[in-house]
Amino acid sequence: MGKATYQFLVLAALFFATWFLLGRVNYVKRLHLEQINEKTEKKIGDLIIKTVYAQQTVIENDSLSSLMDKLKTNLCGDSTEASKIRIIVVDAAVVNAFSLPGNNIVVNNALIAHCDSSAQLAGVLAHELAHLRLHHVMKKLGNEIGISILLAVASNGNAQVIREIIRKLSSTAFEREMESDADDAALTYLEKAHIDPAGLPDFLEKLAELKADVHGAPEWISTHPDIQKRVRTLRSKIQDHKASYVNVLTEEEWIYLKDNCDIGPRAEDTN
Ligand SMILES: [Zn+2]
Repeated sequence: MGKATYQFLVLAALFFATWFLLGRVNYVKRLHLEQINEKTEKKIGDLIIKTVYAQQTVIENDSLSSLMDKLKTNLCGDSTEASKIRIIVVDAAVVNAFSLPGNNIVVNNALIAHCDSSAQLAGVLAHELAHLRLHHVMKKLGNEIGISILLAVASNGNAQVIREIIRKLSSTAFEREMESDADDAALTYLEKAHIDPAGLPDFLEKLAELKADVHGAPEWISTHPDIQKRVRTLRSKIQDHKASYVNVLTEEEWIYLKDNCDIGPRAEDTN
């Protein structure tokens, strides 16, 4: 090997090593996420869930919960991981679902009622699961609330900040890149679980058509902009329909789930 080639290789190696290290340093420095370990995140998550239970009507129906768990376990493909993820169904008339710290996903019953199939619901859950697995929830909070405040919340349980975290995660969007990463990951989870991935774009398209009606604007749409573009991207990535797709829930189970999420007319809607 000539001297010049050797020098070039050393320089190239140094360049890439520096580039790699700087990338890491910037990322860690920007978010300081390393200060929040799994235990701290769980503590914050538990405080948030306590507030969700205090503020909202959580649907405590064992049969309904076990059907949601069945979808969750299939999507996770791993019962150990699935047991760490909690799905909470709340009685709320706005079509919405969102992820919270500590591996928690909240799904409004109005969203389940709005799905045409268990594959559509699985699509939404897969997308939210991706936000958790890809650490989007803590990255967003690290960016928008700040690590020092999050660390303080874990020890002092500041109610105002907890309410602000719930507000941010339930009603504001993630960065565009995180959304497309969550869509891509969701497709992978669905394919792996042999669930028809078309459920996700089908649901998005259905929501886009929904006008604000007596049940209020569909929140999941307002927090997930560029719907038409996402539908096109998702469909272009989905290959032909495979005969091997399965319905995780039987027809009977799906009807039970839908019936128990039928929100019906509300007193507050009659104003
Ligand atoms: Zn999302």
